[in-house]
Amino acid sequence: MAGSRFSYVKNYEIADPLLPGTFILARVDGRAFHRFSTEHEFTKPNDERALNLMNCAARGVMTEFNDIILAFGESDEFRHRSFFASTSLYNRRMSKILTALTSIFTSMYMFHWAEHFPQKALKYPPSFDGRIILYPSEQEVRDYFAWRQVDTHINNLYNTAFWALVQQGAHSTADAHAVLRGTLSGQKHELLFSRFGINYNALPARLRKGTLLVRENVTPAPSLDTASSKKKIKRTTMIVAYHCDVVGEEFWKGHSELLNP
Ligand code: ATP
Ligand code: ATP
Ligand code: MG
Ligand code: MG
Ligand code: MG
Ligand code: MG
Ligand code: MG
Repeated sequence: MAGSRFSYVKNYEIADPLLPGTFILARVDGRAFHRFSTEHEFTKPNDERALNLMNCAARGVMTEFNDIILAFGESDEFRHRSFFASTSLYNRRMSKILTALTSIFTSMYMFHWAEHFPQKALKYPPSFDGRIILYPSEQEVRDYFAWRQVDTHINNLYNTAFWALVQQGAHSTADAHAVLRGTLSGQKHELLFSRFGINYNALPARLRKGTLLVRENVTPAPSLDTASSKKKIKRTTMIVAYHCDVVGEEFWKGHSELLNP
């Protein structure tokens, strides 16, 4: 395409390629979801519909971008959702990747809202911020996911105790914060059990551990038909959800392909 005399302005676009050979991690975070969750009357501490919707939006993004192989959503879920891939997507241009991903995530969230909140109309459009972080090796990637999962646990334990005090203990919110101030994890477990009969460890794993979405290879069973067995086997993948521990070795041993893409 021949340029006009004006086309030099295109040269002002700044190239922003992400460093080659690094793991790309993108994070999408609900913008002002404290207000959004209040205005849309999310149940506290964990609204299941809202968690499902976040997972649905994250799956939608992974379906759109095959290069994304792993995602993590935090227990009260809006907080973080992270993806990584070692990829040549958009020639690794940062703003292209991040804006496309954040925008697809947001539109998936809107598109699927009514399925998850059939009785509740959106009062205003939700939005998300996004950022990209590069990690040089598997170690940081693993530690990143471990960090998010530990954070999930800390937040969820606090929120569970906080809302038990407010909803079942008839404390004011200020009071509940005061009761919990400076308490250790064991004391929160004890408070939940002795005052409210809640065994924290018996809560669903998805609340305590968050949700991992993993792209896994599905190799089709070999066909007995000789004509079709000559055809190239098409590699297909599916997205599998886990609520398992990512701090220890087990998950990563079972999914070594995630760190050696
Ligand atoms: P920012 O724009 O800086 O991210 P924010 O208001 O979104 O601000 P966050 O730290 O991201 O702040 O917190 C998210 C808020 O949304 C929390 O208050 C949390 O309680 C609420 N929230 C998110 N997901 C859920 C859910 N599934 N159920 C109930 N509340 C939720
Ligand atoms: P911002 O959106 O204001 O630029 P942020 O998104 O990194 O900052 P927040 O959204 O305010 O951070 O916090 C999200 C969650 O991540 C919090 O619940 C907090 O527990 C955790 N977090 C953020 N930064 C840190 C940090 N440096 N150390 C430990 N935890 C952190
Ligand atoms: Mg934030
Ligand atoms: Mg937020
Ligand atoms: Mg913040
Ligand atoms: Mg946040
Ligand atoms: Mg265009």
